[in-house]
Amino acid sequence: MRIPDYHIHPDFSFDARGTIRDYAQFAQERGLEEICFTTHLDLDPVRAPKEGWVRVNGSRVPNRDTRWVHKYIEEIEETRELFPNVRLKRGLEVDYFPGVESLLEPFLQFPWDYLLASVHCIQHLAVANEKEGAQLLSLMDPERIALEFAHQVKNAIQSGIFNGLAHLDYFKRQSNPWFREKFLSALEPQLEEILTLLKERGMALEINARAIFRYNLKEPFPGPEILSLASSLGLEMITFGSDSHNPLELALKFDTLLALAMKAGFKAVYTFKGGKIEKAIPFSQITPLLPPYPA
Ligand SMILES: [Zn+2]
Ligand SMILES: [Zn+2]
Repeated sequence: MRIPDYHIHPDFSFDARGTIRDYAQFAQERGLEEICFTTHLDLDPVRAPKEGWVRVNGSRVPNRDTRWVHKYIEEIEETRELFPNVRLKRGLEVDYFPGVESLLEPFLQFPWDYLLASVHCIQHLAVANEKEGAQLLSLMDPERIALEFAHQVKNAIQSGIFNGLAHLDYFKRQSNPWFREKFLSALEPQLEEILTLLKERGMALEINARAIFRYNLKEPFPGPEILSLASSLGLEMITFGSDSHNPLELALKFDTLLALAMKAGFKAVYTFKGGKIEKAIPFSQITPLLPPYPA
């Protein structure tokens, strides 16, 4: 078994390229037996003019109208028939912010395998974004931002809606070192509670490789300290995500993630079906990806 990739953005998102079929094709070539699509669902009305859209057949449609979801799921179903060797899971990466629950309601009727929660924004501003992070700093100090962030993460977990928590320390891609350090030290005392909640709620902690291959950080989201803390608190359930926005990024750097996860004390990677845990694949059964075909 290869490690399933549980964080993938096909071209329904405007910041991604590669169709569902392209991803399945590449997964098959690399010997991946399972991948889970997690297209973006950003429902914040304040950010809607910029982010409230999805791409369907080349056209821009408002993401609040659930009609695109039928198409998304249909495309996954059709692609399943073309690639019977790759299990394709249906998922979403949901941007979590206060009040999202009611807006999310109409989307919960669909047959999701896996719902991934992400906190990207505080006060409608993207924490990890250079410009928006600076704007946010003009409104409140880094400690306050970190506490609000932790508060939203806890609310996301306690909402009972999600199966996994994406890129927990995502903010560390912020290039302002002062902001990053202050944010980190303010978040640290919150981590034990967050990770314990995850465990109690039966949710998975995601290890996200994008930090390494896209943002040139030395460690994934989250880093080895948080992974060790999670493991020492008895959290066993983890997923691996490339957060790929292009099929060539599928399962990228998963060998690095695997080594870190094992070092932190984790024993297996988890898969989901219909919003429930499907299985735990022990690390002892993991085999390397096949080499890419020569160009
Ligand atoms: Zn994200
Ligand atoms: Zn993502």
